[in-house]
Amino acid sequence: MALPKLNSASYQTTIPSTGQKVTFRPYLVKEEKVLMIALESNDQKQIVRATEEMISSCILDDIDVNSLATFDIESLFLDLRSKSVGESIGLKVKCDQCETQNDVTVNFDEISVDVPDENNVIMLTDSVGVEMRYPSFDDVSNIDPDKEQSIESAFDIIMKCIVSVFDDDGVYTAKNEGPKQMKEFIESLNTQQFQNISAFFENMPALKSVISFKCSNCSAENETELRGLQSFFT
Ligand SMILES: [Zn+2]
Repeated sequence: MALPKLNSASYQTTIPSTGQKVTFRPYLVKEEKVLMIALESNDQKQIVRATEEMISSCILDDIDVNSLATFDIESLFLDLRSKSVGESIGLKVKCDQCETQNDVTVNFDEISVDVPDENNVIMLTDSVGVEMRYPSFDDVSNIDPDKEQSIESAFDIIMKCIVSVFDDDGVYTAKNEGPKQMKEFIESLNTQQFQNISAFFENMPALKSVISFKCSNCSAENETELRGLQSFFT
């Protein structure tokens, strides 16, 4: 005789960058275990892989997790966690004034991802522009941690995230042009143009929450912005 099934709840959420509605189920103990082992390893690639795997298993629609933007993954993970573990999280946050660690509770519904309305097109001259996409977890996890801040990594990410180049005559997709041509194109940018493209990444949406608390030690009123998944899970 088959044992009874324990868990069959499912929920709906939206993928921030595309607006696509998806159905998911909470994660199970066996899946959480894989993630915990990855977090303990402190190995970025392993954490990324475990998070992606968990999201793939729990989202019941057919989506390509590898191609989602980093903030999509973060947002989906938060949805999963809120339905799997609980709707709030306890954090330790330092006081601005005296640096005492305070216990702060953040509700998941106070954490949001702001996706800008503007499109992903950056004009480089009056007639030449590029269409960009946000980096995926895969793109970011492939960066060598030792070179994370280097110009080489910046080039690498920009190369991956330019979808197409266009001018008055037409649209040239990165796929058709190939990496060599794209590299030459990026190397031919001037400093201002390069900065305009870099700004696209600096203003990338992220999980965000502003938390207010009164310090338990010095009574100072604190207001801190938490940004990115790591700031909610460390
Ligand atoms: Zn204080």
